Amino acid sequence: MSDDRTLGTLNSRDNDFELSVRPTRFEDFAGQEKVKERLELAVDAARQREDVLDHVLLSGPPGLGKTTLAYIIAEAMGSAIKVTSGPIIDKPGDLAGLLTNLERGDVLFIDEIHRMQKTVEEYLYAAMEDFVLDIMIDQGPNARSVRIELPRFTLLGATTRSGLISSPLRSRFGITDRLDYYDAATLQHIVERTARILDIEVESDGSMEIARRSRGTPRITNNLLRRVRDYAQVRADNRVTREVADKALAMLDIDEQGLDDMDKRILETIIHKFSGGPVGLNSLAVSVGEEADTIEDVYEPYLIQEGYLKRTAQGRVATDLCYERLGLKPNQAQQRLL
Ligand code: ADP
Repeated sequence: MSDDRTLGTLNSRDNDFELSVRPTRFEDFAGQEKVKERLELAVDAARQREDVLDHVLLSGPPGLGKTTLAYIIAEAMGSAIKVTSGPIIDKPGDLAGLLTNLERGDVLFIDEIHRMQKTVEEYLYAAMEDFVLDIMIDQGPNARSVRIELPRFTLLGATTRSGLISSPLRSRFGITDRLDYYDAATLQHIVERTARILDIEVESDGSMEIARRSRGTPRITNNLLRRVRDYAQVRADNRVTREVADKALAMLDIDEQGLDDMDKRILETIIHKFSGGPVGLNSLAVSVGEEADTIEDVYEPYLIQEGYLKRTAQGRVATDLCYERLGLKPNQAQQRLL
């Protein structure tokens, strides 16, 4: 069902783990109630009409369930899913290869669709709208365009950066939805579900502790649960209590609020090296030793949502809450620099 090219980025152990804990039905997908309701309704309606589902664009930070929903949608439609990602399709011929291999009703999942080449993206417009592909063959005076009819299919695009999706592309999606960070109660539900699947004994304060410290992200929740399980196995009696979770997470440098090492480094750098900001993304990236894209996609959205960071036209600025969090007053930090 899945495509090796995208799964090739994970090792096989992680792969097995992903496959065993990934929900396959809407009922098992925790949270995101509104998004789920809208998608489920669209699927039911298309099925009743024996029609093909409209194209769907899902956006939101990594690890919130976009890929999972793509599989759930395909399963609910009774369709096959082909999985690829924007940067992999680097020429129009690759896209033509993918599209001409589809059958009616198939779902084509393109992860990181904002990273698709412009030249490829332009071919996608007619494929999405009219289900045709106009390919240029030959060059010079012999150049001519050949039209290939495509079966009706559903394009399911996922992006961590909806702002980078061009408007011609965006307007061709019938359904667009955004996933938000999860609350702790929903993540606790996910910890408990994964624990059941993996046969891990978790007390309810233990699962809440993991949930609270997962940066609102199910992928992190599942990963932390695995690490906490290791700790429980070696240092406790295989039971995840609140204390065991706390000790295991502290060992991983995940603090009380769930911020990890890089989160803290970003906040401290803005305050200590840039007097609280504003600081441009690239300077910040160089200072903390992380890719600018990763800061923007992975770290910043959570720090902004939690109120530690603000994005202004001049750059990133630490908020009062951020100073408080690091045990500083705004002017104290300024004084340190003098
Ligand atoms: P994305 O595509 O947004 O980066 P994924 O769909 O790959 O995220 O989700 C990462 C992992 O988190 C999945 O393997 C799945 O096990 C888990 N997950 C994500 N969302 C949910 C959810 N709502 N309920 C339960 N598990 C989830």
